[in-house]
Amino acid sequence: MGVETQYVDTYELTRLGQEVHGQAPIARFERLTEDLPQQLDTMVSWSLRGMQDTTGRHFLRVHVKASPTLECQRCLKPFQWPVDSTNRLQVVKSQAALEDEDVLDAESDDIIERIVGSQRLDVLELVEDEIILGLPYVPKHDVCPSLPEPLAQEPDADPGRPSPFAALGQLKKD
Ligand SMILES: [Zn+2]
Repeated sequence: MGVETQYVDTYELTRLGQEVHGQAPIARFERLTEDLPQQLDTMVSWSLRGMQDTTGRHFLRVHVKASPTLECQRCLKPFQWPVDSTNRLQVVKSQAALEDEDVLDAESDDIIERIVGSQRLDVLELVEDEIILGLPYVPKHDVCPSLPEPLAQEPDADPGRPSPFAALGQLKKD
């Protein structure tokens, strides 16, 4: 697989309209996976392309493809969530320019996100942010494969199950 390009010069990319791409194992993205269940041994692919528009603004087009394993919040089983997203980020020269008035992207109608240009932009950081943005707030199967019995009923309406606090009370008595 080789060593991925980890740092890029955003000024070069946008000036020359270059594209770089690479792959990295999903386990490499600790910020992404720390709160997720055990991951399968999948690769994250990414590409980054610099461009300028006719008004001289600089952009990076980021494409990421990944299949993180998430935990379904309904049946609690792990499942793979395909992320295949493209985003366009405006590259600005300073931190202050990040605060400029919002501009809508003519292509997507979304507010254009901005990043500060760098001669050493950490690509995998950026890729990781993009994947995290692509995750659902409440991950769920479209249709759960099978619901385990206890969860098929209302979890709160289960008088047969002793509460953990009751068990705690017993411990205290001993
Ligand atoms: Zn499910």
